[in-house]
Amino acid sequence: MKISRYNHFLPRGDGKIIAFNCRTGGLALMEESKYQDYQYLASHSQEIESLAQKKEYGELVSKLKMGRFLLDDQVDEVAQLELRNRLSRFDTSLLGLIVAPTLACNFKCEYCFEEVKKGHMSSETVDALVNFVREKAPALKTLSCTWYGGEPLLRMDLIEKLSTDFINICREHKIAYGAAIMTNGYLLTKKMASRLRNLSVSGAQVCLDGPQRVQDLKRPLANGEGSYEVILKNLVDVKDLLDISLRINVDKTTRQEDFAELLDDLEKNNLRDQIKLFFGNVEAANEVCINIAENCYDNKSFSKVEVLLHKIALDRGFGLEKLPSPLISYCCAQSMHSYIVDPQGELYKCFNDVGITDRSCGNLRCAVDPFHPNLFPFLNWNPLKNDNCRECEVLPLCMGGCPHRIIFREEESENNCDSWKYNLEDMLEIVCRFRLKQRAKS
Ligand code: SF4
Ligand code: SF4
Repeated sequence: MKISRYNHFLPRGDGKIIAFNCRTGGLALMEESKYQDYQYLASHSQEIESLAQKKEYGELVSKLKMGRFLLDDQVDEVAQLELRNRLSRFDTSLLGLIVAPTLACNFKCEYCFEEVKKGHMSSETVDALVNFVREKAPALKTLSCTWYGGEPLLRMDLIEKLSTDFINICREHKIAYGAAIMTNGYLLTKKMASRLRNLSVSGAQVCLDGPQRVQDLKRPLANGEGSYEVILKNLVDVKDLLDISLRINVDKTTRQEDFAELLDDLEKNNLRDQIKLFFGNVEAANEVCINIAENCYDNKSFSKVEVLLHKIALDRGFGLEKLPSPLISYCCAQSMHSYIVDPQGELYKCFNDVGITDRSCGNLRCAVDPFHPNLFPFLNWNPLKNDNCRECEVLPLCMGGCPHRIIFREEESENNCDSWKYNLEDMLEIVCRFRLKQRAKS
């Protein structure tokens, strides 16, 4: 028997130790004395089998085995992660689509990378997309669809048509169907949310950058008017219809007092228990948004701010969205059966490329070629070839980070590390408190 390389322990300062395993997501609170027993086992790893026979260690060993903190000798955790990562790329039973029915938007955000892209999906492309799904249906067990844009709610008619056809195909072939939407929230009225709900859309990710004066400055409507009041009212109206994840974009201009003011507003509007918060690191991902580069955090600096904001949110009683969960791969770019579809029916692997046809990896109307120069590098990218990732103690939470950065932007691999690399310990304390609060409520 041996100790998992992905165990993390953090003293809470009250005689209890937080125990977490990155590969399984197992989280537990241990008494200090049990942790000392664990340390003894860890330093006598050759003897764990025989120590397990002793009364004082037997129960601890069986609990540690259950949470995969202790493993059989032949288990090679890195090899297992690598195999799961590679198998998932070619799993034909799951089709993941992120569909942009339009790239038009009713906002003009200062950092938007889609400024130069326009266009709506034609009925011919809608038919091609439905055919694309129909052809794959016999092999599918799950179809997941995320509506994306531009602002997808500008073309609710297309969402309705496509969803209805997807749902019918899934019924016919006994495929599980699930959908979500990424929206700026301005058009997300109660009526719109009910229509979405009827189309199996269960969750919505909405962005706010701060309280009114910040949001209205950074994310105004295309005509320059503010967007905050309407979005806040919509959140109140739809909170019982959709699971809301509120993404708060963070850069160097984000101030704690602004964040606190936003929380005040959410609280006043009885949204505290109804939405979950997470923080997005604004990135200057391409030349269109290079103007905001100097305000962007690198991942390491962002990780510190992220801890602070999570602490404030949790202290104020808000729910958290970002929890340390094991990943199979960092994002859908590495899967042969996940695509972002633009209004022309072009297929992409990365959000940063959508609408830039030179970067598409195929089209709905043709068979996808795995050797396409915009697809093959993603499918062939193996984070485990990087020694830093292979040895990394948070590998299962990151799986090598964003492949686009390494493959196409040739950034330093250091800035590709997910913030877990830098803040796992601090976040464990927060996550543990959050879980205990959840348990107390249920
Ligand atoms: S490749 Fe990177 S930037 Fe592109 S979708 Fe994946 S994580 Fe995001
Ligand atoms: S990118 Fe960084 S955090 Fe992610 S697995 Fe590699 S070394 Fe670890």
